[in-house]
Amino acid sequence: MAQAGYFGQYGGRFVAETLVPALEELTRAYEEIVPTKEFQDEWRGLLASYVGRPTPVTRAHQLGALLTSRGAPGAEIWLKREDLCHTGAHKINNALGQVLLAKRLNKTRIIAETGAGQHGVATATACAVLGLPCEVYMGAVDVERQAPNVGRMKMLGARVIPVESGSRTLKDAMNEALRDWVTNVRTTHYCVGSAAGPHPYPSLVRDLQRVIGAEALEQFGQLDQKLPDAVVACVGGGSNAIGIFADFVPHTDVALYGVEAAGHGIETGHHAAPLNAGGVGVLHGSLTRIMQDENGQVLEAHSVSAGLDYPGVGPEHAYLQELGRATYLAVGDEAALNAALDLTRTEGIICALETAHAIAALTEVSERETKRLGRPPRILVCLSGRGDKDLVTYLDYLAKKEAK
Ligand SMILES: *Cc1c(COP(=O)(O)O)cnc(C)c1O
Repeated sequence: MAQAGYFGQYGGRFVAETLVPALEELTRAYEEIVPTKEFQDEWRGLLASYVGRPTPVTRAHQLGALLTSRGAPGAEIWLKREDLCHTGAHKINNALGQVLLAKRLNKTRIIAETGAGQHGVATATACAVLGLPCEVYMGAVDVERQAPNVGRMKMLGARVIPVESGSRTLKDAMNEALRDWVTNVRTTHYCVGSAAGPHPYPSLVRDLQRVIGAEALEQFGQLDQKLPDAVVACVGGGSNAIGIFADFVPHTDVALYGVEAAGHGIETGHHAAPLNAGGVGVLHGSLTRIMQDENGQVLEAHSVSAGLDYPGVGPEHAYLQELGRATYLAVGDEAALNAALDLTRTEGIICALETAHAIAALTEVSERETKRLGRPPRILVCLSGRGDKDLVTYLDYLAKKEAK
C-alpha cells in the first residue's frame, strides 16, 4: 500500500517539527471524523441549503457551434456550474468543510491565506455562518489589486493582514499563515484554500471538492447513461480540477485535462505552469512540481488571473501527470481573455478569469479527442467561478481591442 499522504513520490509533509502534532491531529480528524454520517450530514446539509448544491450542468450549444466554426466540428460542451455556488465559486465547498471540522476539534480561531481574495471570502463567509473569528493573510500587492474582496472580507467580520515579505503575493501569504499556525496550533485551524500543502491537506481538500465530479457523474447518468469523453478544468493549486476529476479517475475511458496559466508564454518564463515547465521540488510542505531556478530558488509566477498565479501545484496532479492519467495544457493571458468574451457572448455567462483558461483550451481538447475517438467528443468543463471580480480587467481588455 502507498504511504499515507503520498501520491507516488509526490506529497508528504515537509514542515517544521512544531507543526507535526497539528498535522497529525488534522490527519486523524480527516480519517475519523470526515467520513462519519454525522459530519457528512451536517456538511452536505449546508451545501444544499446554504451553498445551493447540487449545481446544474448546462449544455453550451452556442459555444459548441463556435468551436465547430474553428475547426473542432461537432464537439458537445457541458458546463458544471460552480459559478452558481454562494460566494461565486467552488471554494466555499472546502471552506465550509474545514471550518466545520475545526469546530469538531474545538478550535476557536480560523486563519487562511488568500491570493485573489476568493478563498479569503469563502473562509470569512464560513466563519460568519458558523460563528468563529477569522484572520486572513494576504500579500500587500494583492490587497491593493483585489480591493473589492478585501472589502467583502471586512464586511464579513474577518481581519485582513497584509503581508509585506518577499514578493508580497500569495506564496508569501501562505508562509505567514504557516508561521502564525506554528505559534497558535492549539487554538487555531489553518484553512488551506487548495489541494496543496502538507498532508493531509491535498487529500482533505480533494475530498471536500470531489462533490463537484460526483454530482456531474450522476447528472450525466440521468441525462442518457453516458459518460463525458473528457473532463477539463483550470489548475491553480488544483482544487477545482481534482474535485471534478476524482470520481472520473477510475473511468479510464474518460480523458482528464488540466489547464495551467501560460501567462505571457511558457518560453518567456513569465507563467504559472509548473506542470508544463517546472521541476520537482518542495513548496509549502509538499514535494511536487514547482517553478524554480537552477539553485532551487522558487520563482515568481505570472498570470493575468490572480487565482492561478502560484508557482506550485497540488501533488496529486504531479502524480496524475506522471502516470499519464491526466494531461496538462497551458493557456496564455490573451487567449484566456478572449475565451471569457466568447463564453459571455455565446452563453451569457461571465466566468472568472481562472475558468477562462479552461474555456480557452477547448479547441485543443476537441481536436485531441476527435483524433482519439474518431468522432466528435462530449466535453465536461468545470466552470469554477463567476467573473464579477474580473470585470475591470475584462473591460480594459475590451477597450484595448476596440481601439485597435
Ligand atoms: C481560486 C480559483 C481557482 C484556482 O484554484 P484551484 O485550487 O486550482 O481550483 C480557479 N477558479 C476560480 C473561480 C477560483 O476562485
